[in-house]
Amino acid sequence: MDAPTIQTFKPQWFHPLLDPSRGGTGIDRPSLESFAYDYYVRFMPFFRNQPEGSLLPGVQIEFNSRMKQKLGLAHLFERRISLNQKYFAKDPRLLPYTLFHELTHVWLYDCLLDPGHTRRFYAKMNEFRTTGLPVDQDVHIHRRLAPEAKYIYSCPNCQNRWYVREKLRHAIYCGHCFEKTGEEFFARPLDRGHLQFNQEQSRDFDP
Ligand SMILES: [Zn+2]
Ligand SMILES: [Zn+2]
Repeated sequence: MDAPTIQTFKPQWFHPLLDPSRGGTGIDRPSLESFAYDYYVRFMPFFRNQPEGSLLPGVQIEFNSRMKQKLGLAHLFERRISLNQKYFAKDPRLLPYTLFHELTHVWLYDCLLDPGHTRRFYAKMNEFRTTGLPVDQDVHIHRRLAPEAKYIYSCPNCQNRWYVREKLRHAIYCGHCFEKTGEEFFARPLDRGHLQFNQEQSRDFDP
């Protein structure tokens, strides 16, 4: 990716850590955290009161120094986003993009929609471009497009949800509850009349 210049951002999306004249010194964890939460707040208009629904409050953002392969990871049920500390300490330019990507996963999960890399997912990611912030060119939309899940299963104890493309032949038990209680809770199909409705609507979108 070419080094972005200040002029490529819309002024309201600028942050001092994205200034290329800042120099390539490592950024400490507290600065990274306030940087990330700053963008989390700025991104809220993309994820609140949307036609699909709202992101629930209270997403935790953490920097993980052991992450190597990925830039970010969304833990949907725990409402936690992990970001690659080593990578972003050296180069924070893709941090807003990565955060937006992971927030899109959590937002879809909160809306009871398939949180995977579906058409709907990339439709939201397209909105990120309006900020003028740097985009990860390696995330290619067509290569990773996943079909929308048709069925949702939910744990009757903790309400953790699974999105699957085919009806399950075997019941799945909830690992979270088993870890906590030692009891097996089996996921039940969740009745989602409006899932079909939303899928009809999303067909109009062509990325
Ligand atoms: Zn993803
Ligand atoms: Zn559970």
